[in-house]
Amino acid sequence: MADTALDQLKRSGRIVVVGASLAGLRAAEVMREKGFAGSLTLVGDERHEPYDRPPLSKQVLLGKAEADGTLLPRRLDIDAEWRLGVAATGLDMAARTVKLADGEEVPYDRLLIATGVRARPWPNEAEGELDGVFTLRTREDGAGLARALAAGPRRVLVIGAGFTGSEIASACRERGLEVTVAERGDGPLVGALGGVIGAVAAELHRENGVDLRTGIMVTALEGDSTGRVRAAHLSDGTTLECDVVVVSLGAQRNTEWLTGSGLGAGPRGIACDAGCRAFDLRGIVTDDIYVAGDVARSPHALFGYQFLSLEHWGNAVAQAETAAHNMLSEGTDRRPHLWVPAFWSSQFGVNIKSVGVPSMGSEIMITQGSRSERRFTAVYGYQGRVIGAVTFDNGRWLQFYEKQIEACAPFPPPFTTVDRRPDGQRPIPADFPDPSLPTHGPTITLSGYSPADRRIATFTPAGH
Ligand SMILES: Cc1cc2nc3c(=O)[nH]c(=O)nc-3n(C[C@H](O)[C@H](O)[C@H](O)COP(=O)(O)OP(=O)(O)OC[C@H]3O[C@@H](n4cnc5c(N)ncnc54)[C@H](O)[C@@H]3O)c2cc1C
Repeated sequence: MADTALDQLKRSGRIVVVGASLAGLRAAEVMREKGFAGSLTLVGDERHEPYDRPPLSKQVLLGKAEADGTLLPRRLDIDAEWRLGVAATGLDMAARTVKLADGEEVPYDRLLIATGVRARPWPNEAEGELDGVFTLRTREDGAGLARALAAGPRRVLVIGAGFTGSEIASACRERGLEVTVAERGDGPLVGALGGVIGAVAAELHRENGVDLRTGIMVTALEGDSTGRVRAAHLSDGTTLECDVVVVSLGAQRNTEWLTGSGLGAGPRGIACDAGCRAFDLRGIVTDDIYVAGDVARSPHALFGYQFLSLEHWGNAVAQAETAAHNMLSEGTDRRPHLWVPAFWSSQFGVNIKSVGVPSMGSEIMITQGSRSERRFTAVYGYQGRVIGAVTFDNGRWLQFYEKQIEACAPFPPPFTTVDRRPDGQRPIPADFPDPSLPTHGPTITLSGYSPADRRIATFTPAGH
């Protein structure tokens, strides 16, 4: 049988992966598993081999793991050329090359972009550079913050009560440290889970000794004469003395290096189709550039074909596997990335898990357990169907609701359960903040329907 282009690619093609972390590594492994024998190059701007980030806000801050001890396990030897500590700075789609910060140009036949996100910095650069002010995304961030907590600060201020901010506050309390959490919204986790669950999260914070201040903004950070942070000014006119500040204001997508490349990349991520193929700026799908992980935004049939951006560990792995499969498959063998979003967090001794897209929900109903016991399952409804679920120490129900979401099951759920309690008999408004207002960063962003959301001012259709 004649050698196809795909056979040639598999035998001697060149695949480049930009972003050498969770998604990049997993994709590389799948490519080798699928028999890709050509050259494989992984480009990563961090100096380290791929490591795991979730422990950075959990075990590492508690001193139970070292920040440099979270390397991701390798499922197989991927026989790749590693270009670590060097950033990709440009992409030439016509010449099929990736430009690196050291001036080198790396040619590719297929490119996977998995450049993830970075922590949103404190908006005032000088204040953000004060000693004792941290963000948390990288191994260095984790090591630095763990050291600062181990030194026994008098008070830690966490700005933003999303998942990461709440986990940091929880770690501080477990270490016996005084901690204040300042949150612009009505409660912790409201961007991701809405006000009803946010109220439960607020109780958790307070019961565990967190000085939680909601509806408040930090307006300025103040340093002492040595350049160390000493206080924060708040929008209610008060001043808080603190010697460690953790800025936990969500994430920004690492897409700037693609500016001018013609790819559909921007602040909301890189748009791709359900098969992980990137769109160009005109909304036309490419066939040689793929996207996976936190930097991707892709349409999902279960959620109205909206483009979803997810900051979920499991999504990065699943999308990387699909991208790698599709990069080495003919059209009809390709498969869609239709992973049902799922996320976990542990804070204040409670295991929180979610499935689906709670932030699409307009109503919520407790279906198992009760909020007062902090052990419950809550289901989110959207236009009469189940769209998401969250569990507090009740994870065994998650799979059941995942199936309900996949089946577009009706909301409110018609079934009765053995342990339904009085506070869960009827749906109530889920109480999400106005989506046009910035929050500390939901872990799922619904980013509309358009494949490439830049204004196409420079685009002139042929013949006009
Ligand atoms: C503190 C913390 C706690 C978390 N906890 C949880 C949790 O409990 N549950 C959960 O589901 N998820 C959690 N997450 C999220 C999870 O870690 C991410 O979803 C996952 O890391 C995404 O993997 P990724 O490979 O897409 O992106 P990333 O891990 O962000 O990796 C992208 C890589 O690309 C590199 N890069 C960026 N730009 C360039 C460039 N131009 N050239 C070369 N390299 C570049 C980056 O430096 C980085 O190394 C947590 C994240 C953090 C930071």
